[in-house]
Amino acid sequence: MNAEIIAVGSELLLGQITNTNARFISGQLSELGINVYYHTVVGDNDERLVKAIEIAESRADLIIFSGGLGPTKDDLTKETIARHLGTLLETDDFAMQSIEEFFALQNRVMTENNRKQALVLKDCEVLVNRHGMAPGMLLEKNNRMYMLLPGPPKELEPMFQYEAKPKLAARVLDGAQIISHVLRFYGIGEAELEVKVQDLLDNQTNPTIAPLASDGEVTLRVTAKALSIEEAWQLIDETKDEIIRRVGQFMYGVNDDSLSSKTAEILIENDLTISAAESLTAGLFQSELAENPGISRVLVGGVVTYTEQAKREQLGISADLLEKHGVVSSECAAAMASKVKGKFGTDIGVSLTGAAGPEGHADQPAGTVWIGVCIGEHEPQTYQLHLTGQRNTNRLRAVKRTFAFIIQ
Ligand code: ATP
Ligand code: MG
Repeated sequence: MNAEIIAVGSELLLGQITNTNARFISGQLSELGINVYYHTVVGDNDERLVKAIEIAESRADLIIFSGGLGPTKDDLTKETIARHLGTLLETDDFAMQSIEEFFALQNRVMTENNRKQALVLKDCEVLVNRHGMAPGMLLEKNNRMYMLLPGPPKELEPMFQYEAKPKLAARVLDGAQIISHVLRFYGIGEAELEVKVQDLLDNQTNPTIAPLASDGEVTLRVTAKALSIEEAWQLIDETKDEIIRRVGQFMYGVNDDSLSSKTAEILIENDLTISAAESLTAGLFQSELAENPGISRVLVGGVVTYTEQAKREQLGISADLLEKHGVVSSECAAAMASKVKGKFGTDIGVSLTGAAGPEGHADQPAGTVWIGVCIGEHEPQTYQLHLTGQRNTNRLRAVKRTFAFIIQ
């Protein structure tokens, strides 16, 4: 089965909102093994919507519409589809009842156009809207499936997940189970990783393996289909073992893990306290780390020392060192890491200093970063990075690298 998503709404074409619904639905469909070949966006215009539907019918088995199910005049999706398919709209009693209850609850008077929201395509399966008034619809006609979903993501997303997805799953999986498992890598480029698992990618059928690179990380999504969950897991585990055998040293986690959550997990598990002296990142390292619940057990504190003066006064870094090596240097990073560790009395002290860009710093080009990590009684280790992104990308990348150094 292959699908096309048609997002309806002039505000999408005017650049006022981003088509996050298409992204969401695509992600969900890929979990079901349904290929999405096209995303279409069309304004609130009857004629152009019909054209978009005709094109989609020429190339998709499943057409999913988002938006235009509301009560206002510009909302025309279901009316246009009904006319195009030569079918009728009829009132869904359950939807009408929920709309009436909603208005009664809010003590508001229901207007005639609100009744329009309870109209659904004749013979469709109604998808209940638990977060708004317009019901969704699933209609099979001419060997094709049409799914209509409301525009607001807070209505569309739960409706898709809890109402629509099980119905689709029942059709495409035919009793089978499908499981996805995401393997997360850091410190290896997408191209390099792909080369290492090329034969697995070339020969994949079940499980399928989908690589994705973003924010300096690479993931492999392994999806298996089988008659039981145990069998599906067995297929995933076999493939996972083979991938780990080849590139396991770069794998830091699975599914929703992040470098930050893994760092927090390791610190908490090992009862290791940490502090940070941040120049380049001005607190971003601590902020990212603090996203993890329970972090107060190990994240003691830190300082933002942006200027040379702050580095001298807050950390006691000598003017000599700064004069001799500059702030973007291994020596400065090492001193910052060990000084902050001493100041907060932690097991680990971390430092970040560098030139975020677009300008360089003194004789150091933009993107030059030094990271210092001082653990226990060991000498501080320093690492140099040459980042090539924009200012804020570089700052975030430097933080991620720091997490990676701690994890290793
Ligand atoms: P309503 O009953 O709220 O009018 P609707 O089903 O008629 O819902 P639209 O009128 O098309 O949907 O869109 C309502 C709102 O939903 C938009 O203003 C926008 O905030 C959001 N929205 C619509 N389409 C999308 C989309 N493709 N991606 C993300 N958000 C969207
Ligand atoms: Mg609307």
